[in-house]
Amino acid sequence: MEWETLLHDCVSFAQRLIRTPSMPGQEEAIAAVVAAELKWLGYDEIWDDSVGNIYGRVYGRDRTLPALVLNTHLDHVDPGDPALWPAPPFAAEIRDGRLIGRGASDIKGPLAVQVYSAAGLLRAGERPRRDVVFCGVVQEEVGGAGAIYWVENLDYPVELVLIGEPSSNTLALGHRGIVQFLITFHGRSAHASAPERADNPNYALASFLSQLESAARELRAHFVLGPTTVSPTIIEVDTTSGNVTPAWTRVVLDFRTATESVNSLRAFVERLAGESNHSLDPENMIDSDEVITGFYTAPDSPLVERVRAAFGGGMGREPELTRYRFATDGRHFAPYGIPVLGFAPGEEEMAHTAGESISLEQMAESLRGHVQLLREF
Ligand SMILES: [Zn+2]
Repeated sequence: MEWETLLHDCVSFAQRLIRTPSMPGQEEAIAAVVAAELKWLGYDEIWDDSVGNIYGRVYGRDRTLPALVLNTHLDHVDPGDPALWPAPPFAAEIRDGRLIGRGASDIKGPLAVQVYSAAGLLRAGERPRRDVVFCGVVQEEVGGAGAIYWVENLDYPVELVLIGEPSSNTLALGHRGIVQFLITFHGRSAHASAPERADNPNYALASFLSQLESAARELRAHFVLGPTTVSPTIIEVDTTSGNVTPAWTRVVLDFRTATESVNSLRAFVERLAGESNHSLDPENMIDSDEVITGFYTAPDSPLVERVRAAFGGGMGREPELTRYRFATDGRHFAPYGIPVLGFAPGEEEMAHTAGESISLEQMAESLRGHVQLLREF
C-alpha cells in the first residue's frame, strides 16, 4: 500500500474540511465536501437523511456480520477572536508538523482519518472484514440532534460504534454523564441605597458557592471514568439596573458523573442550600429523570481486547486505555445497548481552544491503526 499517498490525500481532505466552516445548523456545505470524497474514494453506498447527516458504506468480506460504524460530527464551535490564533482559523495552514485550524483536532482531522481508513483497504484491492459505515452527524456541539436521529432510525445491526473524538490515539472506554440543575435563590428587591429594606439573594448564592467546591469532593468517583465534578456556570439576576437589589439570583450547576443519580445530586444540592429560600429545577435535562448516561465499556471486556489488538497491530504499539473528560455523541447510543468506544488522533485538550491544531504524525499513526481495525475486526 502507498502509505505516503494515502496520508497525503487524507491530510489534504482534512484541510478542505477546515476551509469549509460548519457551525451547528450550517453543515450543508461540509456534508457536500464529505459526500464528494466518499464518491471519489469508491464507497459502495452514499446517502444522507432529513436532518443533514451524511453516510457512506463499504461492503465487507462477510456481509452477514453486524457493521462497524465510524462516527464523527460535522460541526465545530466558534473560533472566537482570530487575533488569538497563530494562523487564520479557517486557513488550514501546516506548521512544524501540525495542521492548524478550527476543528483540526475536534473533529476534522479525525473525520478525515475515519473516511480514509476504508480507502486504505480499497486502494490495496482489499475489503474490510465486515461492512463499515461512516456516519457524519450534525449538531453534536449543541445537543446531538444528528446522532439522536441516526440511532432512532437505525435499521441495520451494529457491532460497534467508534467515536472519533480526539483521544491522542488511546482507546477511550467512555465518559461521565451530564446533569445540570438551575438553582434559584429568592429574596426581596429594594433600592440599592437602602439595603436594610432588601433581602438580597446574592448573599445566599455566595454562601452556597463558597461551600460547593469542597463539598463536591465527597461525591463518588468511578474507577475508570473518574471523579464526579461540578462547575457553576451561568449566573443571572432578575434586574438589569445597577441600583436595584435583585429579587432572585440563579446559577446553573453542571455536574459530570458516572456514579451519582439525579436524585442523589438533587439531595446534595438541597443539603448545601440548606434553609435558604430557594428552588431547584433540572435545566436542559439531557438525560432521563433517574439515569445519567455517558457510555462505558469495561476494560476487561472481549470487545476492548479485540479492538485494542487490531489498533495495536496497525500502529506497532498497543493503545493505552483511557476515558474522555468531556461528553460525546456516544451517550446517545449507549441507552440502546450499542457498544461504543472512542479512538482518534488529536489531543483532547486542544478541543475548543484558540490555536487548535493536530499533529500529522498522530494522524499517520491513527490511519495505520484504523486500516488494520477495518481489516481484522
Ligand atoms: Zn467533538
